[in-house]
Amino acid sequence: MPEDRSLDDFALGDEDTDSDAAEAADDSASDDGDPDAPSDPNDAADPAAVDPAVATSTWHTDGAACDRCGERVERRWRDEDDFVCADCASW
Ligand SMILES: [Zn+2]
Repeated sequence: MPEDRSLDDFALGDEDTDSDAAEAADDSASDDGDPDAPSDPNDAADPAAVDPAVATSTWHTDGAACDRCGERVERRWRDEDDFVCADCASW
């Protein structure tokens, strides 16, 4: 019976194993060759959600005391953990 023969060939599966390995190799190769693939658009959408929480300067309309000299200024710059006036900021 020809049908029995073909089933046996499938069960032995030597050719199948070889082609599977080849396909896996092709998949990883194409991944490496596509650095601009779909993950980038998602990253591009993030910056809008990322608030500039780490501000390099702060603005106080009523003024705020410099952490170094105590002078009252409207704008202070971040210097390590302190907010200092323009004179005290280490540029
Ligand atoms: Zn100061």
